[in-house]
Amino acid sequence: MAKTEKKVLVTGGAGFIGSHLCRELLAEGNKVTCLDNLLTGSIENINALLDHPNFKFIFHDVTIPIEVEVDEIYNLACPASPVHYQYDPVRTIRTSVLGAMNVLELAKKTNAKVLQASTSEVYGDPAVHPQVEEYWGNVNPIGVRSCYDEGKRCAETLFFDYFRQYGVDIKVIRIFNTYGPNMHPEDGRVISNFIVQALKGEGISIYGNGDQTRSFCFVDDLVNGMMKMMNTDNLQGPINLGNPQEFTILELADKVIQITESSSQLQFNPLPLDDPKQRKPNINEAKTKLGWTPNVFLEEGLKETIKYFEDKLSKDKGVVLH
Ligand code: NAD
Ligand code: UDP
Repeated sequence: MAKTEKKVLVTGGAGFIGSHLCRELLAEGNKVTCLDNLLTGSIENINALLDHPNFKFIFHDVTIPIEVEVDEIYNLACPASPVHYQYDPVRTIRTSVLGAMNVLELAKKTNAKVLQASTSEVYGDPAVHPQVEEYWGNVNPIGVRSCYDEGKRCAETLFFDYFRQYGVDIKVIRIFNTYGPNMHPEDGRVISNFIVQALKGEGISIYGNGDQTRSFCFVDDLVNGMMKMMNTDNLQGPINLGNPQEFTILELADKVIQITESSSQLQFNPLPLDDPKQRKPNINEAKTKLGWTPNVFLEEGLKETIKYFEDKLSKDKGVVLH
């Protein structure tokens, strides 16, 4: 791809997905500002970028207005793991809603393009399967996941109202379960939990009976799709980005145990409240409008992620999340 040298702001840039996005944006020749309050992200994720002349890290909370010179904004700041977003639900909603307002105001002032990292959670516990962008979803507005789901839904509303009311150049992508290196060992999401448990020989924590499904996208595929979306003209979305290969949680556990050659046994725990029963993206829009399809099969992505966790666990024992 041609060198572009745009000024790009990535909120949540020290997190799992954000750190990969920052790296790829730098590789394309852009000047990247990474804004993060390190709630669930870490400096370790961006350590390799800190000395890059085109990279700048700002310790800042996205709920506080931001003034930077910028051509493009990727808004990723928000805890994404159910464990973390439910820990302080009011803060999660504030982050989604005020964060969206602040990046939209910045985009309005600077004429920047702004992309919202929305989520498949806007479909809630979906009655339509696979999920298409036209589906309005099935979200419990007062449940334990609502701080995240409704926060992200309100952020989408704000994006489309800034587009209609002020002509801000918005992009909304709905990300489906994504995994890969730079996930925190104590992130709490299923792939990192299973891999860490398998590597430590601990019980594999299946919530419910494990017949619920998810579709897992490797982070490199996702970042490629995000950048393709940002590079479009006159396309607001929303567009689903995810890997449509669907697995039950039991199938995922089997794969992790098999690849790690672990002696771990399955351990059954109660299903969390409002846990969606099935999830799989329809990606026809991404295919036709972005020319994007994911390329990494689950086994391949798991092997790379397992390698990352093996290195990480051997380096730092007993990591504590901020
Ligand atoms: P993550 O928790 O690793 O990254 C989130 C980042 O945002 C962290 O670095 C965190 O410190 C930062 N952050 C949180 N609150 C902030 C605040 N108030 N101000 C500034 N920074 C703040 O999670 P992730 O998986 O990398 O997710 C990134 C984005 O993608 C999130 O917006 C998430 O909702 C969205 N998303 C992710 C997935 C997925 O499967 N990973 C799926 C759907 C949507
Ligand atoms: N899950 C599980 N064991 C874990 C973590 C999660 O069985 O240790 C299940 C969870 O109940 C859900 C699925 O795996 O059905 C995906 O959970 P995750 O937290 O990764 O993401 P979600 O899609 O629910 O936001």
